[in-house]
Amino acid sequence: MLSPRPEPPPGARNLVLLVLDSCRYDSFMAARPRVMSQLGSVERRFSYASWTSPGHFNLLMGLLPHPSPQHVFASEYYKKELGGFAHRLGIDGMGLTDMIPRLWLPDFLRNRLGYHTRAIVSLPVLNPHTPINTDFDSFELADKHNDLAAMIPRLQFDEERPTFYLLNTGETHYPYATPDEPEDRWPRVHGVHGVFKRLGGGPLLAKTDAPARFDQDKLDILRKRQIRTVTHIDSVVEQLIDHLPKNTHLIITADHGELFGEAGYFGHGPINHDKVLEVPLVEGLI
Ligand SMILES: [Zn+2]
Repeated sequence: MLSPRPEPPPGARNLVLLVLDSCRYDSFMAARPRVMSQLGSVERRFSYASWTSPGHFNLLMGLLPHPSPQHVFASEYYKKELGGFAHRLGIDGMGLTDMIPRLWLPDFLRNRLGYHTRAIVSLPVLNPHTPINTDFDSFELADKHNDLAAMIPRLQFDEERPTFYLLNTGETHYPYATPDEPEDRWPRVHGVHGVFKRLGGGPLLAKTDAPARFDQDKLDILRKRQIRTVTHIDSVVEQLIDHLPKNTHLIITADHGELFGEAGYFGHGPINHDKVLEVPLVEGLI
């Protein structure tokens, strides 16, 4: 049961964290997204994790993908990073110590600052039964894995108190399909949907689902498809920005990157390679 929330500090802003699932940094840049690039400078960052669950857990600790800074102690970096939320939220003087002991952004925003906390996620591995739903007022799994546009009319904001939204969308996730593409035209590489057999949920994958081999031509096409989905997302982000109330801070990033055949890898997860960590980060005030 969620506890009652305090009155928010004056001037506290809405915060929207949009996660483009599996969006690799260089796919994002190759798409030259006009709208998202206008939000701020697009940075090449590194996810702390190579797949969806720990990637989101880290984001919800308030730790956005990092720039891999050299000659810096981790504790100093975390302090600076979490202090950056004071600027994002428009609240003076908050920092790492305010997050203690739970170190969980939805808890801090809801129970200390009085925010509404809401999530709409697209990947079944983040479904509302998982513990990642903790301290959200509402936490929903979207009907489709790849339809950010369908989330926009469902977003609710309140003039009385600010709202935090986590939006996870999967156009940029395998099979890199925009919502208008019929499912029977999706490319098929068996065994790469993730933990679940179908993107909409369903049974877990079996050993026999594993692909026998990788076909590089096919993987090159898949990479082009991911780039195309970024172009699509860019037009949807334009609609999203039109819908968001003024004084909302929007962060766009990814939970991890993706491999398209480099060093014999495809996808993300049990992979140790730069490209599974390289993600874009862009943010700004609407
Ligand atoms: Zn993911």
